[in-house]
Formats: sequence, structure tokens, C-alpha cells
Amino acid sequence: MTEAAFPIEEALADLAWDKLGDRTLCDSCLGRLVGHLGHGMTNSQRGGILRPKVGTLEGGGCWLCEGLLHEVGKFATLVEKSLESWECETFLVGSRISPEVAAREEALWIDVGSAHAEPLKVEINREVGKLVEAATGKAAEFERPDVVAIIETAFDVVELQVNSLFIRGRYRKLARGIPQTRWPCRKCLGKGCDYCGGKGKMYETSVEEVIASKVMEQSGGSGHALHGLGREDIDARMLGQGRPFVVEIMNPKKRRIDLSIATGVINSTGLVEVLDLRPSRKEEIAKLKDERCDKTYRLLAKTASPVSMEKLKEGIASLLASPVAQRTPFRVSHRRADRIRERRVRSVEVTGFDGSLVELVIRAEAGSYVKELVHGDRGRTEPSLAGVLGVPCEVLELDVLEVHDEE
Ligand SMILES: [Zn+2]
Ligand SMILES: [Zn+2]
Repeated sequence: MTEAAFPIEEALADLAWDKLGDRTLCDSCLGRLVGHLGHGMTNSQRGGILRPKVGTLEGGGCWLCEGLLHEVGKFATLVEKSLESWECETFLVGSRISPEVAAREEALWIDVGSAHAEPLKVEINREVGKLVEAATGKAAEFERPDVVAIIETAFDVVELQVNSLFIRGRYRKLARGIPQTRWPCRKCLGKGCDYCGGKGKMYETSVEEVIASKVMEQSGGSGHALHGLGREDIDARMLGQGRPFVVEIMNPKKRRIDLSIATGVINSTGLVEVLDLRPSRKEEIAKLKDERCDKTYRLLAKTASPVSMEKLKEGIASLLASPVAQRTPFRVSHRRADRIRERRVRSVEVTGFDGSLVELVIRAEAGSYVKELVHGDRGRTEPSLAGVLGVPCEVLELDVLEVHDEE
């Protein structure tokens, strides 16, 4: 700790102290006018040093804060109480002050000067934070606090904002017919109706629900969301090393989750498996969403009439020769803008072939529509395997074998 220091001459010279007039101020409010000068002391101590020099009045209550700065102890107790039922290691204190107090502070700054002034709210937040730190052993944290306690100073009420819990990992989806995220019923939008059998959703479960349910149980959260590095089709499995994701748990009561227990329960469902679960942060979601990486697929297709291996190899060679132009597929055209994009097919390997059944392992650039690459989407993907073979192709199965991300 550096030694306390206060440049009294600068404080006296830089402000128009005579403009204080007959306004009485408490030590804190007086010292806060030059709160950015010096260090190692409270505004109240600054005020104590200044008072004899500027000859300002004391007593009769503080014109500016009307005693608010004497209430920090009470505010700290309110904050401590509000934190009691939430497991957290870090917190941040915020506060709302009445418009009247804010207006008086503004008026005082205009008259006396505000070159070194600190706002009242900042002092309350800091002083309450110090008391809460001392009483609870939790740390005040500005960047990523677990919870933010907002003090309504006029009503002695604390509003708690609990920041979400984020867990990162990779998931494998072992069964077909499961969407990545919960899909609300298209008729009732989640309320429950005859169409969805009262469940409010289109599918029994989702990767999100399988992963979140155990973590929700452990954390006591109020809701969840799953953020993935892209998504596979509902009828496609996600195999290999899995797909990176961040699961978000809203309003968690507990933040210390035993991730090995969660992993064990998720992996015993037979539907979804998770790998490498670890604590994460909100910033990682944006990074996931920005990442563009190749993917490798396994695809099983059937040609409408038999083709020769030679012709198949020729067809594949022409898919690799130049970028493929893909117009937004029919199946997603109701929700995505109609445009044409060019994507590279990196490699295609024939792993099974009997004349009409073809199994392919395809590595393609991020954003490729792989089913369309094979069946051609009625000419919207050019070239396509069906196009170059001159035979309609039906896609029977699709799996994602690998997401080639950086990690
Ligand atoms: Zn005051
Ligand atoms: Zn419904």
C-alpha cells in the first residue's frame, strides 16, 4: 500500500470554493469534489482536511446527500443478505440514487467545478463493496462478477442480477432425429396444444435438454441455452471428437458444479455424449459463433439407376475441380435469404459402393450444404453428384464425422 497523499494546494486552487455559499456538506460530499486528487484515503478524510481551509459549514445535515453516505453500512448489510442464497465468489455493487440528489450534485459541480470530482454513486458503490468484501470474504470484481447487486438507495432495496453460468465442451449426438436446441411447437409456440400433445415442443428432447438437465439440477438454474459451433441436421448424427458448444445456465443458485458427475449422467443416456467439459465465459460464445472451419461428413446415397465406379470417380473429380455454387436450399429457403454462395469441396472418398448404394466421406468448407451437393437440389447446387452422373441421387443418411476447429 502506498502512503496516503493529498495535494491540498491543488485542491484549493482548482475549485471555486467560495461558490459553495451556505450549502452545508458532510465530509464525504466535500472530499468527493476533489475525489480524484491524491490517493490512499477516503473522501471523508479528504473532506476533513479541506474543511478548515475552505471554511465551509458543518452540521444541520448534508445539503447534497441528506445523510446517504452515512448509510453505507446499512446498504452493505442489505447486499450481504441478498447474496446469502446464491453461491458466488465475486460480486459488483451498483446503485441508483434519486433524481433530486443527482440534480443537486450536478448543480454543485456547475458552481464549484468538477475537474477532480467523483460521482456520488461511485463512492457509494466502492464503500459498500469494501464492507461487503470484508464481511463475506468474496471479491469485488468489475470485469466478470458472478452477481451484480444494485442498491435502490431511496427505498433500501437491493436488486440482484445473477450472471449466467457457462460451461464449455464438445458433444457427440449418437441418435438421429434429435435437434440441437429445444424446438418450440410451431402451432402453440411452447404453450402446449393438441398438435404437440401438450409438450409445447416439436421433438421429445434435444442435445440442449440432455446436456442442460443434469447441470440445471446441480446448479438450480432458471433456464438454459446451448450455443454451438454450427449445427448438424436433425436427422444427422454428430460423431468423432464432437462439436464444440457452450451451455448457458441462467440464474444459477450454485456455480460449483461437479462436471464429472454431469458427464457421467449425460453419457449414460445413449443419445448424447459430452467430452472435455470445463468452465467457460460469455466471451467464448461469440468466438464459437465466429469460427468457420471445415467439416467431414459420412454420407450414404442411392442412385436412381446403377452407375459404374469409373463414372462415379469422374463425377467426384469434377466436384473437386472448382468451387461449387450453392443457391440457398429449398428446405431452408423459408427462413434464410435467397442467395448463391461458393464453397470448396476439399476431398471425397468412396468408402462403400455396390453400383447404386454409395457411401462417401466428404470434407467440405464451412457453410457447405452437403446433401445438396449430392442430390443437386433441383439444379440449385451446381455442380452436384446427381448432375454430373446424370442420375437422380437420394441421400439416405448423413453424419458429421469431424468438426475441424482450432482446438
Ligand atoms: Zn453528504
Ligand atoms: Zn403445441
